This record gives sequence, C-alpha cells and structure tokens, in this order.
Amino acid sequence: MEKTDPRISKIKALIAFRTFFVTVLLGSFALFEIGNGAFPYPKAVFNLIEALYGLTIIYALLLRRVKPKPFAYFQIVLDVIAALALIYFTGGIESWFSFLLILIVIASGTVIDKRAAFVAASLSSILYGAMLDLQYWRMIPIPYGLVLYEKDFLYNIFSNIVALYVCAYLTGQLSSSLERTSLTLEKRLTDFRKLSVFNREVVENMPSGLMTTDADGRILSLNRAGETITGLDRAVESDIRIQSIFPFIKDLNKPFERGEGEMAAGPVKKTIGLTISAMKTPQGDPFGYICIFSDLTEIKKMQQEMQLRQKWAAIGELSANIAHEIRNPLASLRGAVEMLHRGGTSPQQQESLMQMVLSEADRLNRIITDFLMYSRPAENEPEPVELDILLKGTLEMLGKSAPAGIRINSDIEPLRVTADPGRLQQVFYNLVLNAFEAMSAKGAGGGVLAVSGKKENGVVKINFADTGQGIDAKDAEKVFFPFFTTKDTGTGLGLSIAMRIMESHGGNIRFKSEPGQGTEFIVTLPVNGKAPGHV
Ligand code: ADP
Ligand code: MG
Repeated sequence: MEKTDPRISKIKALIAFRTFFVTVLLGSFALFEIGNGAFPYPKAVFNLIEALYGLTIIYALLLRRVKPKPFAYFQIVLDVIAALALIYFTGGIESWFSFLLILIVIASGTVIDKRAAFVAASLSSILYGAMLDLQYWRMIPIPYGLVLYEKDFLYNIFSNIVALYVCAYLTGQLSSSLERTSLTLEKRLTDFRKLSVFNREVVENMPSGLMTTDADGRILSLNRAGETITGLDRAVESDIRIQSIFPFIKDLNKPFERGEGEMAAGPVKKTIGLTISAMKTPQGDPFGYICIFSDLTEIKKMQQEMQLRQKWAAIGELSANIAHEIRNPLASLRGAVEMLHRGGTSPQQQESLMQMVLSEADRLNRIITDFLMYSRPAENEPEPVELDILLKGTLEMLGKSAPAGIRINSDIEPLRVTADPGRLQQVFYNLVLNAFEAMSAKGAGGGVLAVSGKKENGVVKINFADTGQGIDAKDAEKVFFPFFTTKDTGTGLGLSIAMRIMESHGGNIRFKSEPGQGTEFIVTLPVNGKAPGHV
C-alpha cells in the first residue's frame, strides 16, 4: 500500500479549511451584506471570493504534481494577499476581517512549521501596517470614519502585529512538540510492528510444534511445525480438544511437565514427546495451556535399532569369550587323552595325565556353571538374614586359607536384612578372593583387607578395602563385564555374577581404586530387599 505523504494530507486540510471558510463567508455575504452598503466595494469582495474558489480548484489539481513544501508556502503567501485584499475591500482599518491574518499564521504553523508561521506573521504585519498607513495618509481610496485619529491607526497596527507574532510563536511551539510526539509514536509503532512480526516468524519457523489451548484444552493456535506433525489443518479445524489429538494426555489439570506417547496422524502412528505448561492469571487460575511437542518417531526407531545392534554385538563378544574359555581346557584334554591312547607312558606319567584330564574337566564344568549362573540366575529365595553373622562367618572361613602375609580387619554392626543368604555369601566370597589375589599379586608384601558393615538411611553398606595392586583406569569400565580378567587362570565371571546378584536384590556394587595403592569395593543393599525408590 502506498503511504500518503503526511504533508500532502496537511495541505489537503488547508485547502479544505479554506474552501469551508470562503463558503461560509460567501453564504453570510449573500444573506446579509450584499447591496446593503456596509463595505465600500461589495462587488470586489464577491469577485475575490470567486477567485478564491477558482484557486482552490487549481490547488487541488496541482496537489500531487508539485513539491509540497514550496507549494504550501505559495498558498500561504497568496492567502495573506487575499486576506489583505478582503480587508482592503471591506474598509481597511474598519474591516472586520483582520482576524483572517491570524488564522493564516495559525494555519502556516500547523501545516508547515514554526518558521512558516513567523514568515506569515512578518509578511502580514508588513503588508497590513503599510496598508493602514497608506489609508491614514489617504493615499489609497478607502474611506474611513472621521472619528478615527492617528493613535487609533497606530494602536490597531500595534495590536495586530503583537497578536500575529504571539500566535506564530504559540502555534510553532505547539506544532513542534506535536511533531515530536507523533514522531516518537510513529517509531514506537514501527518497533512494535517489527517485534510482533519477529515473534510471529520465530513461532512459525521453530522446528518444534507449538500449540496453545484455552482452559478446557480447546486448541487456540498451532504453528507450522505443529501442523506438519499432527497433520491438522489450522485453517480448517476448529474446536478440537488437545486430548483428542494426544490421547495419552489424561488430565490437563495436573499437566505433566514432560510426557511421551503415541498419536494417530492419519494412518500412521507417531511417537510424540511433549511438555505442557499452564498459563495462569496473577491469582493462579489456569486460563490456558502451552504445549510444545516434537515428533520422536524417527529417533525412537533409531534408538531401537541401536539397542538391537548393541545387544547383538554384546552377544557376539560373549560367545567369542565362551568359545575361547572352553577351547583351552579342551586342547589340554585332547592332548592328554592322545598321549594315553598312544601308550608307552610310564605309570607315573599316566597318573599325572589322568589328574590333568580330571582337573581340566572340573575347570570346564566350573566355567559352564559360573556362566549359567550369570546368564540364567535362579530366583532369589529371600528370608530374614543376620547379615553381620553371615559376613563374619565367610571372612573367618576364607581367612584360614588366606595366602601368607594377608590380614583381615573387620568392623561390622549388626545388620538384619531380607535377602537370599546363599547368594549374598557368594558375593562376599568373590570380593574377598579378588582382594586376596590383588594383594598377593603385588609381590611378597601381602596386605590388609578392611571390611566394614553399617546401616545408613535404610540401606546396608559393606566395604571391602584392600591394599592390593589396584585397578588400572583403562580397565575400570570393564571389570564387571563377563569374561573380563587380568589373571592367567581367572574366568572373569566373579564380579559380573556378584553384580547380577546385588542388582536382583535391588542393591549395587561400586568401587574406588588407586592403582598401586589398593581398591575399595562398596556393596549397597536395601534393608527390605528392595532399593529405595523402586516400586
Ligand atoms: P577374575 O577374578 O576371574 O579375574 P573377576 O570378575 O572377579 O574375574 O574380576 C575381574 C577383574 O577385575 C580382575 O581380573 C581384576 O583385574 C579386577 N579386579 C577385581 N577385583 C579387584 C581388586 N580387589 N583389586 C584389583 N583388581 C581387581
Ligand atoms: Mg574373581
């Protein structure tokens, strides 16, 4: 849309005002004054008015063709001249129309600016003053009453000039402050428009769906991404409730901060993640809801594929490890049997070969048993257990067979829990054996295993702190993996089984280790056999 120059509309107002005034003048003349002899030149007045009408038409035609400002000045000057002519024809000092000059000054101030008002005031003062002087000296043919003296003329000129300048000053002042206000207002309006366009663009172009609803959940607005995700057409659909689009929203009154669920977008099902927040009045009553959502279908699918891939990778690794673990004892078995079969061995050799067969078979059996325990653990058989007694018993039994140079310190509170005692014992057994192995591997020294047990906030905490070789940072992630071992004869199943058992009790195992200094394993177990917070 083409914007009209504000100056042009002001000039239009000037023309309209002049037309109105001239019309009123003409009307009043026609009604009262013509032919009644009140003015010296009634015919001339009439002609003047006609001329002004003519000018108005010319002005209107010129309006868009000439520069507004000089055009306005031109009109003002002509107006002053016309007003003076009217004053002249209606009796000079005795004319009633000197106020017209003031109107012109006011008009210049409002239509153009302060300067134009002063220009109009000066021009009017000079011409008006000159005219009255000439009249006083009777140098122009306007008669005046005999009652008028020189001081009347001076006084009239003086008061008119003062009035003209005062008016010029006041309208100038008024119009410049008006100008300023309207400029700031204009700027504010533009800023506001820019801001609202910006906001709309942000909402439209954001990649997430944005929906607003009223307090009942009826949809009020939906952005473009929202349309794409839900398949709704915001121009067509109306009066739809948010629950009919996202059926997994149960109760709007207690909106979840975050949620996930399925929706039917036409024939396809989509997984949607959303957050809802209530818009509230200052009193705290919800008057609507804002819902931001996105389509998680692709991400979900990718996640599932990823999980599946990870699962297969883990299974592959596990199978490779099992095969490896079984192949070694099988090789020695085969070797021994072959030698026996070939014959020519002494009875002692035969005896030791037989021993080897037996021990390798045992080892195979142990690996399989351990692995089965890891992969398909039997159900727990929980019962009330005096855990402190169970732990002390295990330590005592193992302490007897401890390698030389190893000492056990224990500090254990009475601990009553509901758990499967046989399986917990197995956990302790694995941890203590690992500690023994870590401390004897360090060299001659041996070391101290400090075991403590206490209860904190309904959780039993048992620590096994050894002074062994510690766990390398690079191995830290792997020690709980099945078949991870750093030992020549290890199976790498001890910790993985222990972790399985603790998790099945709702507990956990963590460790802290300082390579070369020692390791502390921390076993936690909820007293009632379930982790706090688990349902
Ligand atoms: P294994 O004892 O048969 O090696 P585990 O699962 O019991 O299998 O332990 C896995 C690995 O964790 C060990 O080989 C060892 O490297 C490390 N580890 C476990 N406990 C300790 C410990 N107390 N100190 C140092 N390293 C340990
Ligand atoms: Mg072990």
